[in-house]
Amino acid sequence: MQHQEIAHYIKRAFGFEPTQIKRLTGYDNVNYLIGHHTEKYVFKTYTWDEELFEILKAENEILTHLSEKGTCNFPIPIPLVGGEYLQKTTLNGDQAICRMLSFLEGAFLGDVKASPEIYTSLGTSIAQMNLKLKTATNYVLRSREQVWDLAYFHLNKKFIHYISDAHDRAIVRYFFQQYEENVLPVAPELRKQIIHGDANEWNILTENNQVSGLIDFGDICHSYLINEVAITLTYICYDKEAPLAWVSDFLKAYHTALPLTEKELSILYYLIAARLCTSVCNSAYASNSNPSNTYATVSEKHAWSMLYKWLKINPLHAERIFRKATGYPELKVKSNSEALKARYTHLSSILSVSYKMPIQMERSAFQYMYDVHGNTFLDAYNNIPHVGQSHPNVVAAGQRQMAKLNTNTRYLFDALPAYAEKLLSYFPNSLNRVFFVNSGSAASDLAMRMAHAHTGHKKIMVTEHGYHGNTQIGIDISDYKFNNKKGQGQKEYILKTQIPDTYNGPYRDKDAGKRYAQDAIKQLHNSQDPVAAFVSEPIVGCGGQVPLAPGYLEEVYPSIRKQGGICISDEVQTGFGRLGDYFWGYEAQNVIPDMVILGKPIANGHPMGAVVTTQEIADSFGKGVEFFSSFGGNPVSCEIAHAVLNVIEEEQLQKNAKEVGDFYKSLFISLKAKYTCIGDVRGSGLFLGVEIIHPENGKTNNKLAQHIKNSLREMHILISTDGPDDSVLKTKPPLCFTKANAKQVVDSVDSILAMLAY
Ligand code: PMP
Repeated sequence: MQHQEIAHYIKRAFGFEPTQIKRLTGYDNVNYLIGHHTEKYVFKTYTWDEELFEILKAENEILTHLSEKGTCNFPIPIPLVGGEYLQKTTLNGDQAICRMLSFLEGAFLGDVKASPEIYTSLGTSIAQMNLKLKTATNYVLRSREQVWDLAYFHLNKKFIHYISDAHDRAIVRYFFQQYEENVLPVAPELRKQIIHGDANEWNILTENNQVSGLIDFGDICHSYLINEVAITLTYICYDKEAPLAWVSDFLKAYHTALPLTEKELSILYYLIAARLCTSVCNSAYASNSNPSNTYATVSEKHAWSMLYKWLKINPLHAERIFRKATGYPELKVKSNSEALKARYTHLSSILSVSYKMPIQMERSAFQYMYDVHGNTFLDAYNNIPHVGQSHPNVVAAGQRQMAKLNTNTRYLFDALPAYAEKLLSYFPNSLNRVFFVNSGSAASDLAMRMAHAHTGHKKIMVTEHGYHGNTQIGIDISDYKFNNKKGQGQKEYILKTQIPDTYNGPYRDKDAGKRYAQDAIKQLHNSQDPVAAFVSEPIVGCGGQVPLAPGYLEEVYPSIRKQGGICISDEVQTGFGRLGDYFWGYEAQNVIPDMVILGKPIANGHPMGAVVTTQEIADSFGKGVEFFSSFGGNPVSCEIAHAVLNVIEEEQLQKNAKEVGDFYKSLFISLKAKYTCIGDVRGSGLFLGVEIIHPENGKTNNKLAQHIKNSLREMHILISTDGPDDSVLKTKPPLCFTKANAKQVVDSVDSILAMLAY
C-alpha cells in the first residue's frame, strides 16, 4: 500500500497526520511504524476475515485489560475517531481490518546476550502478566482453536507429512505419541486461563538487561497456564548448546510470582517437545506451500537442533531440574537393592541381570534408554528394538489394532495375509510359505518338527556354540546351552560340527570356508543316520559374533540336501537388514535355505517369531495334525510386524546399517591398530564383535572384556559380551544408530583402554 494512502487513511480514521511511516517485517499481516512528532505507533492491517475480526477485538480487550503501566509493558490499543479500536475498511481496493497500537521501545531479547539476570526478569514478567490475565474472561478466546495453542497440538499432525526426512518425521511422531500418553491424561486437571502463547525472543523487549515489554498477542488463547511456561522456555533454550542449563532462572522467578504445581512440572518436558514439533510442522508446511516465505521458517533450524538434543534428555532428568528450580523435593526412586529384592521375592535367581551395577530402566526412545535416576543410555546393544526403541509407528500400529480386534488365526482377517505377503516379498520365490509363532524359540522348535515331518529323519546337524531357543528342542539343538558346564549334554540325535571361525579356528586362510565344509561333510558321511536338517546362524552370536567362513554354506548345503536333509538358516539375530549389505544373513553365503527362522527384530520387541519355508515342506507338514498357535499370527502382531517392515523401508534402515556400520567398524579397526588387546574386529553392518585378548599369548581376555563393558555402562553406553569365554564385545544397536553414536562408543572404549595403558 502506498504510504500516501496510509497517511490519508490515518488522518481520516485516527484524526492525526503521521510525520513518519515505515513498513515493518511481519508474519502474515502488514504492519507500519507510524510517527507523530515524538509519539510512535504501530498501524496494523489485515486481510478481511470475519473470525479474525472477532479475535482482534478480543485481543484489543485483553490489551486494554493489561494496559496499566508496570515494569513490563504491553501495546495499548489506540482508539479511532469514533471511539472503537478496530475498523473494517477498504485498503487498496480490498476489504481489510485496521487498528493502531502504541509502539514499545526496547531491544529485542533475541539481540541481547543471554544471562541469568534477563531470564529471571523474564520469569517475573511472564508470571505477572499471567496473574493479570487470570481475571480476564473472553468467550471468543475460549472457543478459539489454533495450531499454535498446545492444547490443540494434535491439529499439527496434518503437517507431519510435509517434513521431508523420514527419521525426522518419526521423531515428531514420537513426541506426538508421548504427548498423548503423558499430557492428555492429566489435561482435564490443569489450570486454564488466557495466555500470550508466543513469548519468543522477537516478541520480548528489554531495557538495561531487564524485560521491559511484550508484544504480538496474535497467538493469544485460552489454554493451560503451563503452556505459557513451556512456550517461553522453548524459546529460551532452543538456540543453546545445553538447553536444560538455561531453564532454572526463568522457572524460579516465575514460580516465585506464580507458583506452579507438581503436576504441571511433570508434563513440562513433553509440552516443550510439543512446541518444538509445532514449530517444525508449521515450518515444513509453510516452506512447502510458499517456499519464498522465509519468515515462516526462521525458528526451524533451532527447533530441529533442540528436538534432537531433547531426545537425548531423559524426561525424568528434565523433571528433576524443573522441580529443583521451583523448590519441590526430589522424586523418590527405589534403590537397586530394593529393586533386586522386589524382583527375587517372586522370581527365580536363574533370571540374570546385566552389569555389576544393574540398571532400573524407565523409558526409551529410538537409540536411547532412560533409567529411573534420570540418566540417558546410548543403546549400542539391543538388537530387538530394530527400528528404534518405542518407535511411534510400531507403537501406533499395536495400539490401533489392539483397540480394534485381537483374535486368533481361526477367524479371517486381512492383517494376516497382508503381512504374510509383505514378509514373503523379501524372500526368493522358493520360500513362499510362512508360519507365525511368538518367539524365536517357538520358531526353532516348529522348524525342527517340520524338518522331521518332511524328511522322516530324526538327526539334526548343528554348529558349535549355536543358540536357537529355550524350549526342550531349542536346548537340544543349541550347543551354547547343552554344552554349558551346567547343561544337559549332547543328545544322541544331534550331530555337532565345528564353528567355521577364521579367527580362532584351525582354518584361517581364504579356503577356510571350504575346509570347514569338507570336515562337516565328512561327519555327514560318517553319520549312521541321515540328517533331517542342518541349522546354523549366518553369524554365530553366542559363539562371539563369528561370521561363518566365506563359502562355507555353499559347500555344505548341497551335501545336506543330497542325503535327504533340509537347510535352515536361523536369522533371528541377523535378519531384517541389520547386516547392511544383505537383508538376510544367508545371502552373504550365496545360498538359499529351505527354511528360515525369524524372531527378535521381526516385531521390534513385541513377542513374535516365524518360520518361512517352501511349499513342499509346508505341504509335508500339512499332512500331520493341525498346527495352531493361540497367539501366532494374531492381528496385533501382524500389524506391528508390518509397521516394522514399513519403517525399515521408509527410513532406509538397511542403508543406514551399511553406512553407519562400515564407519563404526572402521573406527574399531583403527582402535585395534592402537591397542594390542583388541584381537579381532568382525561382523558387518550394525552387527559387530570385538574380540578382547591377552596380547602376550592371543588368548581370550574375559576380565578385560567385562571391565570394558562395565566401564561403558558407567559412561552410559550399553554394549554386552559374548563368546565361549564371554570375551567378545558385541554391539548390535537399533538401526537408527548414527555415526556420531558410533564415534561416541569407540571414543569411550579408547578412553577406557588408554587408562589401562594397553
Ligand atoms: N535363535 C537365535 C539365533 C537367537 O539369538 C535366539 C535368542 N537369543 C533365539 C533363536 C531364541 O529366540 P527367543 O529368545 O525369542 O525365543
